[in-house]
Amino acid sequence: MRTDVLGVGFDNLTLEEAVAEGAALVEAGGFHYAVTPNPEFLLAARRNEPFRRVLLNAHLVLPDGIGVVYSAKILGRPLRGKVPGIDFAQGLAAWMAGHGRRLFLLGAKPGVAERAAANLAAAYPGLTVCGAHDGYFQDDGPVVEAIRASAADVVFVCLGAPKQELWMAEHGPATGASLMIGLGGALDVFAGVVERAPEGFQRLGLEWLYRLMKEPRRIGRMAKLPLVLFQAAGARLSGRGNQA
Ligand code: UDP
Repeated sequence: MRTDVLGVGFDNLTLEEAVAEGAALVEAGGFHYAVTPNPEFLLAARRNEPFRRVLLNAHLVLPDGIGVVYSAKILGRPLRGKVPGIDFAQGLAAWMAGHGRRLFLLGAKPGVAERAAANLAAAYPGLTVCGAHDGYFQDDGPVVEAIRASAADVVFVCLGAPKQELWMAEHGPATGASLMIGLGGALDVFAGVVERAPEGFQRLGLEWLYRLMKEPRRIGRMAKLPLVLFQAAGARLSGRGNQA
């Protein structure tokens, strides 16, 4: 049973459990995809039904950040903790390195995925990064074919939301991959283009604050965090929060 937070069901897992579940999906064969919704996703999904459906149909739905965790708490059905997409991706990369699985990186500006590939291969000895492609393509066909030709098991799909989720659901099955994960700006972090918040900020649930200090122009997007908390409080008070 998933934990409903404003219309999106989340898997209530720790990071370790989520990585184990991801590994199991890879081993199961067939196509699966994982999503990592943050407060922005929750608000977008309320206005965008196809997006919401793709989130609901995902095989793994992980709370990417403290905003979702607080909302769940306000709604009276706490999650065990945040599972940041980046941490999930790193955990899975470590598992893949030890199990001979192949990783493809899709997204970000030209050159970024290749740099991320080099950094990940260095960080996880034994990891096979079998291909990389930027996220600014016009035709889907050649990208699907590149993933298929690479015989990737896992694809990190970093096109921003909701594009990446819709892309995974529509094109994923044709790629032959077992697991695709929508990871937003993760390749920029892996490539060293964007710096992640220091651990102290991460532990305190203040990663968003660090990002805001670094990139003040994100204030409009960040304002969605309090907005989603207000919506959660409203849903709780009106009793709607009890709906699954
Ligand atoms: N991006 C892309 N193709 C697009 C639009 C965006 O590859 O058509 C990339 C962009 O370069 C960035 C990532 O998608 O690397 C999204 O970053 P954002 O900061 O929006 O993601 P977040 O982590 O905040 O969800």
